[in-house]
Amino acid sequence: MEERWVYMNGDYVRKEEAVVSIFDHGFLYGDGIFEGIRVYEGNVFKLREHLKRLYESAQSILLKIPYTMEEIEQAVVEAVRKNNLRNAYIRLVVSRGKGELCLDPDKCSNPQVIIIVDQVKMWPKEMYENGLKIVTVPTRRNVPDALNPKIKSLNYLNNILVKIEANQAGVGEALTLNTDGYVAEGSGDNIFIVKRGVLYTPPSYVGALEGITRQVIIELARELGYTVKEEPFTRHDVFVADEVFLTGTAAEVISVVNVDSRVIGDGKPGPITLQLLEEFRKRVTVDGVQVYTAAEADVEK
Ligand code: PMP
Repeated sequence: MEERWVYMNGDYVRKEEAVVSIFDHGFLYGDGIFEGIRVYEGNVFKLREHLKRLYESAQSILLKIPYTMEEIEQAVVEAVRKNNLRNAYIRLVVSRGKGELCLDPDKCSNPQVIIIVDQVKMWPKEMYENGLKIVTVPTRRNVPDALNPKIKSLNYLNNILVKIEANQAGVGEALTLNTDGYVAEGSGDNIFIVKRGVLYTPPSYVGALEGITRQVIIELARELGYTVKEEPFTRHDVFVADEVFLTGTAAEVISVVNVDSRVIGDGKPGPITLQLLEEFRKRVTVDGVQVYTAAEADVEK
C-alpha cells in the first residue's frame, strides 16, 4: 500500500503518526473550521472557492489562519503531489490549537493547519442509478443566530444528530428543516427541487451551508437555459416536486426518489437531475487548480 503523508503546519508526517494534542480546542470544543475538497484527474476542483469559504469561516469565528490564501493553495497542491494521487479527497482543517481546559480561545496560541489527502470513497453506483430514499428528521438545522450554518465549523454535532436519526430510519440521508419549518438541507448536502422545469434551492439565510457544488449547479443549470430560484420552500413543495436531488463535494449530484414515503415523480432519477450530473462530471476535471503539469499528466496516461 502506498504511504500517505499529512501536511501539518508546514511539515509532512506519515498518516499513522499524524496526531494533534488532546488539549487542542478543535478536539476539546469543536473550535475550528474545515473544508472537504475533491481532486479529479489532477485538478483540485474549485480550490479557490473552497479557500474563500475557509477564510470566511475563519473571519466569522475570529480565527487567524497563520498563512495567506496563496500559501494554503500552494500547500494543498503540494500535498496532493506528495501523495501522488490524481483522484482524491482532501480534508483541510484549521483548529484553534492547544489551549487550557477552559473555553477561552485567547488562551490558544498555535492554530493547527492540517491537510489530509486520501483516496475517494464514492457512494455506490446503484445509488446514482436508483436514487435515494430520505426522511425528514426531528432535529432542526442550527439557528443562524446561534451557530450560523454558513460557517463550516468543526462543530458538526447538529449534523451528526441528523445523521443518527437518518441511520435510525434506515435511510442514507435526511432532510432538515429550520425552526420556521422551511426546508434547509441534508446532513451534509444541499437540496434542490425541480417543478415544471424550474429549479429551486433554499437561500442560505434559511439555514444552509453555501455549498460549492450548489453554486456550480446553479451556474450550470442557468447556462443550460433553466431558471433557478433561491427561495424558501416547505416539505409539501418537496413532496409534489417533479424531481429532487442533493449536491455536495462527496455526493456530487444525487437523485432523491422518495421523501417521507412519498414517491417523487415516477420514482426514478429525473431527466434534469441526470443531465446536471452528466454536465457536472464534465466540468470537474477543468474548473480548478491543476496539480500536475501537462507533461506529467501525459506520462501518467
Ligand atoms: N451542507 C453541509 C452541512 C455540508 O457539510 C456540505 C459539505 N459536505 C454541503 C452542504 C455541501 O457543500 P459542498 O458542495 O461545498 O461540499
